[in-house]
Amino acid sequence: MRVNAHKALNSTSESCYVKKLKLPKAREDELRAVRDELRDAIRSGLKDWTDHFPITEMVTRDAIVALNSEQLDVTEAFGRPKFRMQGSFSYSTVNDPAKGKTPPLQIDLDDGMFLPTRYINRDGAVAPSVAADGYFRAVETLLADVCEKNGWTLKRKTSCIRVEIDQEAHVDIALYAVPESEFTTLIETAKAQNRLVQDGFMELRDEDFAEEIYGRLSADQMRLACRGDDGRGKWIPSDPRKLEDWFRDAVRDHGDQVRFVSRYLKAWRDEQDLGGLASIALMWAVVEVFENHGGYKPFNGRDDLALLAVARALPDILRQEIPNPVVPGERLDQGWSNTDRQAFASAAMNLVAQLDAALIKSSTPQTTVQHMLNALGSRFPTDVSLLVDEAPEAGAAVAAPEVLTSGLLEIKDDRPAVKLGGDERYA
Ligand SMILES: [Mg+2]
Repeated sequence: MRVNAHKALNSTSESCYVKKLKLPKAREDELRAVRDELRDAIRSGLKDWTDHFPITEMVTRDAIVALNSEQLDVTEAFGRPKFRMQGSFSYSTVNDPAKGKTPPLQIDLDDGMFLPTRYINRDGAVAPSVAADGYFRAVETLLADVCEKNGWTLKRKTSCIRVEIDQEAHVDIALYAVPESEFTTLIETAKAQNRLVQDGFMELRDEDFAEEIYGRLSADQMRLACRGDDGRGKWIPSDPRKLEDWFRDAVRDHGDQVRFVSRYLKAWRDEQDLGGLASIALMWAVVEVFENHGGYKPFNGRDDLALLAVARALPDILRQEIPNPVVPGERLDQGWSNTDRQAFASAAMNLVAQLDAALIKSSTPQTTVQHMLNALGSRFPTDVSLLVDEAPEAGAAVAAPEVLTSGLLEIKDDRPAVKLGGDERYA
């Protein structure tokens, strides 16, 4: 029989899957409190930074020369940092991680630190006057004290500083530089247009920064501090807003279902222990299928059909290169070995098989539940009253039933997984 499992995935029922994936409110509050404590430690520690950190470590040699020659105070190489959340908390795709995994899965709260910095000309290009290496060291020093006090663990990652709060959660802080001149202009404009009320940009609140300034900063001079192979800090061009905008646009075009299906796939990834399969690659797959679904009946009110359509496309998507949708020439699958890729694709084949067995070929509601549990883990509800037998009106509810019943053979042909203009396999 053909089953409508939408309510089991997403409904007002307290036992539906998406409610079980939700991070408990108390845990979310706790994580935000930790984030705020870390922000405060950095903010207050950098206020009189010359008392704690050597100028020659914090400011590049070129910048010291350049600032001196312009008779500018070196202590004003940068201003007060502002913060803005990134990653799944800003995409609204956070899941409470599945329990019982070894090692335990961790909630990943990504925070961005934006330091308004004077930029100087260097080798024909503009560069932040702050030294990436000194920036890392200063923030690490400031966080070390808070970590010790709270029993948290500081870890140095390639492009961020990680604070592990406990076995199941960490906060990542990415360190950016943004041009102070542009920052100041944006604040003045915002004030002139009555979008900002308080005086003095030193006291600009993070909320106002996020709402009024962050989205208006130009991309070309934004830099992210990274560690090179030698462990030393360096600056790379990076704009975290691009991916965020890309995903927000997809949600605007195709609705919240893009978010929900992304969360089901992330939960599937976690259940199947596919740690290296980045969330953003799964989100790309979801968006790609929704984009190419144009011309067919939308997945109106049917998260199960949307998930099935994405699952059907997933093995082929994972076998091919996955482009970064906002940075030409870069990819989302760069770190994958062939073994990884095969493991991801074969897990995706299994997902299709489980969903087919659950939604298309199931003989009883219990069979449906069993296959959904296999695919999505024990948080999928076992309450069969959330499943609806679609058989009597299958033709009306499903755009192309013959495609849905065609099984796995359908994805073994040579056609590309994703075809512009749509492909009836996703219908
Ligand atoms: Mg992270």
